[in-house]
Amino acid sequence: MVQEEFSKYGISYSFAKGTEISDFENEIKANTKVIYIETPSNPLLNIIDVHGVAKLAKEKGLVSMIDNTFASPINQTPLDLGVDLVIHSATKYLGGHSDISAGAVAGRKELVDKVMFKGRNLGGNLSDFMCFLLERSMKTLALRIEKHNENAQFIAENLSENPMVKKVYYPGLTSHKNHRIAKAQMNGFGGMLSFDLAGDFDAKVYQKNLKMIRSSMSLAGIESTIIQPSLTSHALMSSEKRMKLGISDNLLRLSVGLENKEDILADLTQALNI
Ligand SMILES: *Cc1c(COP(=O)(O)O)cnc(C)c1O
Repeated sequence: MVQEEFSKYGISYSFAKGTEISDFENEIKANTKVIYIETPSNPLLNIIDVHGVAKLAKEKGLVSMIDNTFASPINQTPLDLGVDLVIHSATKYLGGHSDISAGAVAGRKELVDKVMFKGRNLGGNLSDFMCFLLERSMKTLALRIEKHNENAQFIAENLSENPMVKKVYYPGLTSHKNHRIAKAQMNGFGGMLSFDLAGDFDAKVYQKNLKMIRSSMSLAGIESTIIQPSLTSHALMSSEKRMKLGISDNLLRLSVGLENKEDILADLTQALNI
């Protein structure tokens, strides 16, 4: 979206070179209006200090925006941390059943009104049935997230002890490089995690070995799903560029569902030992 569409609207941009506050400060130019972050990020679960970014934006007179999809509003409440606009893909945890496509934006009325106005002109709106499904799903959001958090923590801890797994990326692990910040700004660490397979175990073969967990582009549903970012979301990027971002060809992104956690682990483990 940023790389392919922004220039058509006369919007320029630059990407922060890292996840520290100074990385964002370094990119601020005379014409900068917005700082946009995503934390935890897709697919490596990088963590950014949300309050730090909001404070920087405020000091510089900029609008701060966050994609809060991976955390959900149960695990992270960025408005409390000083962010101006919060965006959610409601297709994910808010919907939670992999059967709708929707989005949400939250913030001060004067800012949200501008988004509403643009949405009206650009035609983005939801059908009555989508609204009905979304509203019904949100009634169980807190319960579902509690279980997603518990299951993902269990899977992350167990996979990190498996010699067939090289590295697990999950903010709830004390080994995560920004675990301390995650713990301070989140109420729970969420249901998303990624892992690198050890050696030259092919991630495509691994996915075929799974019996219960199915491959899917989307995430955050009742059922556990898995994808290989190098072949899907980041397929258009060169292998070299992906490696620079830390996305190896054998990286797998797992959306930990609400099944029995022992069943999820058993499937993940048997696929490693085949
Ligand atoms: C899926 C996703 C989006 C896009 O949302 P859609 O509802 O599919 O348009 C944006 N950000 C994150 C973090 C996502 O996971």
